[in-house]
Amino acid sequence: MNNVTIIGLGSMGATLAGLLLKKGYQVTVWNRSIAKAEPLIKDGAIFATSVATAISASEVSIICVSDYEASTHILNTQEVKQALSGRVLIQLSTGSPQQARDHELWAQENQVNYLDGAIAASPLQMGNSEATIFTSGSLKAYQQSEHILKCLAGNVPYLGEQVSAASSTDLAFLSYLFGSYLGFFHAARILESDGLRVDDFGALIAQVSQVVGEVIKYESQVIQTETYDNPQSSINMCMTTVELFMVQAQEANINNEFPVFAQQLFKRVLEAGFGNEELGALIKVLR
Ligand code: NAP
Repeated sequence: MNNVTIIGLGSMGATLAGLLLKKGYQVTVWNRSIAKAEPLIKDGAIFATSVATAISASEVSIICVSDYEASTHILNTQEVKQALSGRVLIQLSTGSPQQARDHELWAQENQVNYLDGAIAASPLQMGNSEATIFTSGSLKAYQQSEHILKCLAGNVPYLGEQVSAASSTDLAFLSYLFGSYLGFFHAARILESDGLRVDDFGALIAQVSQVVGEVIKYESQVIQTETYDNPQSSINMCMTTVELFMVQAQEANINNEFPVFAQQLFKRVLEAGFGNEELGALIKVLR
């Protein structure tokens, strides 16, 4: 079971193939543009001239291309479906939860053992213990390919047989990250407007990230258990902070788009009568 096929040799797919070659796997590769395979062939990869031949070479195939449309274009041919029948296919292209469901249905119709995955790391981070690949779908496919996935990332949680879970979790993670980015860019303007260093602040955030994680964990439990009474941080109290963002932006004459967005959301929660509830109650207006 030390054979693996990689379809798609963009910056991520080529990284995956390179890591598996280093771990001693026999790696068969296919890419639309052959030139991208050349460095890997020098390192011992076998180049297959067709997708079906590439898939026939291994029990487990990983596809990592731009998106699910490209994946469908590559896989949905009679020869490829025949080659994949009875084998494991791991989808590591990024997609939506519905695309994962559609791919699983297609796989089931073609007797393919399907695992959906979402990579939450850059090519440079792959292979590290902190790199994460979320997976969901066929448990049998996960068990058969765990040894391969663990060479690609130290953290490979299997989120269950609900095939959309990997994609939803990846998007949830990215939503959290992008929300933090937006807050951070406004933070940088606050600091710049007072002549302070942005990089010192970045180092501080890295130091306190564990504490920030605990706060998010607390709010997640509040939402999951729907217990908004006896608040640690009430909506009223948080609104005072949001109003301070507005005051500071006006005083320093800096862009206020981020505080305005937050203020509008908090106003709606207050108008709905949730001022004395825990911060997590903000989800009620989003619902
Ligand atoms: P990339 O460098 O842009 O490579 C795209 C790959 O898709 C190439 O192999 C390309 O083939 C292939 N492709 C696109 N359309 C195709 C089609 N119609 N038919 C055949 N092949 C097609 O992208 P990447 O960075 O490797 O990303 C691959 C996946 O990993 C994406 O879904 C991305 O979201 C995910 N991901 C990437 C990162 C990252 O930082 N790079 C991080 C997490 C997740 P050609 O070489 O022939 O053009």
